[in-house]
Amino acid sequence: MRILDWQIGDVRVTLIPETIATGLTARTFFPDFDEGAFAAELPWLAPDHYDRASDRIRLSVHSWLVRTGKQTILIDTCCGNAKPRPGFPDFDMLDTPWLDRLKAAGVSPEQIDIVMCTHLHSDHVGWNTVSRDGRWVPTFPNAKYVMSKQDYHLWCAPGASAFRRMVHEDSVLPVMQAGQAVLIEDGYDGADRLTVVPAPGHTPGHFRLDLDAGERGAVFAADALHNPVQVPLWRWSASSCDDPVRSRQTRFELLSHCAETGTLMLPAHFAAPHAAIVRRKGERFELDWRPAPG
Ligand SMILES: [Zn+2]
Repeated sequence: MRILDWQIGDVRVTLIPETIATGLTARTFFPDFDEGAFAAELPWLAPDHYDRASDRIRLSVHSWLVRTGKQTILIDTCCGNAKPRPGFPDFDMLDTPWLDRLKAAGVSPEQIDIVMCTHLHSDHVGWNTVSRDGRWVPTFPNAKYVMSKQDYHLWCAPGASAFRRMVHEDSVLPVMQAGQAVLIEDGYDGADRLTVVPAPGHTPGHFRLDLDAGERGAVFAADALHNPVQVPLWRWSASSCDDPVRSRQTRFELLSHCAETGTLMLPAHFAAPHAAIVRRKGERFELDWRPAPG
């Protein structure tokens, strides 16, 4: 498998792919779905981001590896292997070579300095832990795992859903028990070149990460958007958003920021080519794809 690298200033950004989720229709994933509006985007959306034959949208699940020269930082850790996720067949009991792909990119688990968990959904914290001798233990023994304090407490609150508690117990709690979790409220200044920017809506504590790497930099947009159709149709939040109205506002702010600054947008779920510049044309946003060179 070819390693996909983007050189952004003197920072190297690498995509570590896990899987492609193909189980969702746009009609069910976007509560504001409109047949005509969706159909108008299909000429550029298919086949990479939408499969006409099955009428399913395509969502990549991947991590971003950031090498600044000073630190090696992993942004989100996908679904993980052997984790029961009832009701989510795309994420359930996976068996993927994600860890081998990380190693193929030239990084061992011991070399990760920081794991950034943009939020605590199951497809962002899975490789936080691996199973060893029947126990879930941190995959990255020398890393700090940075996550929102607000989300952390929501996931383990007595009123949290059984699913959230399951994710918490196999993927987040072991990191906390190992003393490696850093719960943040007002940003985090321990990551070289990366600034935590609140991006609430998808979850209350959801954040994006802005990379300072010279003139234009990059934005790791996490789940402010899921599928590229949400660039022109930015009003469409996902059914998985805790607060769809706030999520829409966050998405508009993100797209406006990217369009104004020319920064490279690197979301958590866009299928290939994965990365793009955002252009504003009147009231509409469009993508100018930037595939990994080479
Ligand atoms: Zn996600």
